[in-house]
Amino acid sequence: MSDAELELQGVRSGYGDLTVIRDITFAVPPGNITVLLGRNGAGKTTLLKTIAGLIQASAGDIQIGGASVAKEPPYLRQRRGLGFVQENKRIFKRRSVEDNLRMGAYASKLSRKEVTARMAEAYERFAVLGAKRKDVAGYLSGGEQQMLAISQALMSHPRLLLLDEPSAGLAPSIVQDVLDAVRRIKEEEGRTVLMVEQSVDLAISVADHVLVLDIGRIVHSGRPDDTGIREIVEDTYFGRTAATAKAAAPAASGPDGSSAGAAAPA
Ligand code: ATP
Repeated sequence: MSDAELELQGVRSGYGDLTVIRDITFAVPPGNITVLLGRNGAGKTTLLKTIAGLIQASAGDIQIGGASVAKEPPYLRQRRGLGFVQENKRIFKRRSVEDNLRMGAYASKLSRKEVTARMAEAYERFAVLGAKRKDVAGYLSGGEQQMLAISQALMSHPRLLLLDEPSAGLAPSIVQDVLDAVRRIKEEEGRTVLMVEQSVDLAISVADHVLVLDIGRIVHSGRPDDTGIREIVEDTYFGRTAATAKAAAPAASGPDGSSAGAAAPA
């Protein structure tokens, strides 16, 4: 058994007869921010949904905290320490900030006292939420709604947080606030993060490790400061083949220091 917080081995999934991701193998060590980059349609959201159990893997294994979860429903994965912030499915807009946080704690069956303590944590993490705790969530700005969505997922104290493009649609100054918070969630709270991002600059600024997904396969796995990382990402964004990208890649290392294990295209 590895000590990875999250480990995927040969995972395949998709929608009905359509296979979207295939042969996905990687590991995320505890206390690490791994950023998943890839152009539109590469399969990033599908991969996160498969890890969370919203889509069933048709092959391969998924382990959370060393336990095999590939056949488990989403709520059991959540009990094992998974939190998931989906893109554009952020919050209950007609409910107050407080109610949204309370709903985030619902599945964890916490005492009232524990819920209150975790709400206080949320207000400490994002002071603006504390100031607006009675406000209707739909009236918050886009950035505040994203902060609320993240806080809602953190109410269950997940060890592993999946974030699907938390920067999407936000003004650049707000994006920085959100990424700073993601960093603090790792550094101060000790949580592990797997985050989807489209911008290579943002990914590099926050990541300990970068994965590049293209046409449903991992085509690069390495450190954010690897030389050539921008070219590799651009290769995939501009549709140059994964094989070209791989050839351009330096000897990249996996999160555990092993070789990248980038998958070749079919
Ligand atoms: P983006 O950056 O645009 O969000 P992505 O990398 O997250 O893209 P996915 O949303 O995972 O990519 O989509 C990958 C492929 O799966 C696309 O071809 C998409 O059309 C297809 N797809 C996504 N959702 C469904 C669905 N519910 N039913 C059928 N096909 C889907």
